[in-house]
Amino acid sequence: MILTRAAVAVASVAALGAGAVLGHVSGSAAAEPAPAAAQQIVASASPTAKPTATASEDSYAGSTLVPDSVQKGSNGINVVSKITTKNPVFFITIDDGWGQPKSATAYVASAHLPVTSFLTNAAVQGNWSFFKKMSAYDAVQNHTMTHKALSKDSTDRQYEICGAQARYAAKIGTKPWILRPPYGAGFMPRRSTAAAIEKTAASCGITHIALWNVTVDKNGKMAFAGKSFQKGDIVLLHFEGDLTANLKALVKAYAKHGLKPASLSQYLAR
Ligand SMILES: [Zn+2]
Repeated sequence: MILTRAAVAVASVAALGAGAVLGHVSGSAAAEPAPAAAQQIVASASPTAKPTATASEDSYAGSTLVPDSVQKGSNGINVVSKITTKNPVFFITIDDGWGQPKSATAYVASAHLPVTSFLTNAAVQGNWSFFKKMSAYDAVQNHTMTHKALSKDSTDRQYEICGAQARYAAKIGTKPWILRPPYGAGFMPRRSTAAAIEKTAASCGITHIALWNVTVDKNGKMAFAGKSFQKGDIVLLHFEGDLTANLKALVKAYAKHGLKPASLSQYLAR
């Protein structure tokens, strides 16, 4: 597969190479867990973002990711945390939706950057046009209605997953087919509740569950599960105030390893 439109030109990244600040920022209860691995600064920016969720009760901060794990789903669902490919590509996924910096859409448009937006309906705040622009070169996908942990039996999985399916289809024009469970709950590592989540997801058109093996935290700090900068990496960022700087630094950092961003939806055959 040749994806020449995934341009990687970056004019300048002033923050790249900024002084390293080692240590993990743990201020956000809502952020998806970073892989427990060596961390590397790729950018530094002012942390002006809003919190990515309001509740801390369903934090899964203790979750870890098994490097290059292959998970077998049930109910016909495929579960991926990294794409197996020989192509020199990686994948950009951005979660939640609370922060909506206009500079990010400008960068996506100028670079033709493929971005999968995993949206939480509560975080969209009605600004669907922003996310259409963000995923103009890939797709908007499902990150639930209110960002509850789907592994909990007290969570209304039908509402959280299938409610978003119907709403996003109406707002975006395309029904999602990829689910990213908040916090990776139920899947990182895989737990017995995963099958129940998959059953509900499959009932309303989900065919894939996409986890991640690389994270970019606030301040541009990267964490890798296993080896860094691998073909097929699925990188997780959040819609936050420093998104644009983080995206540019991310693309530049991967370019140094000969890897270009590609469309996740094109690699996850339905
Ligand atoms: Zn999230």
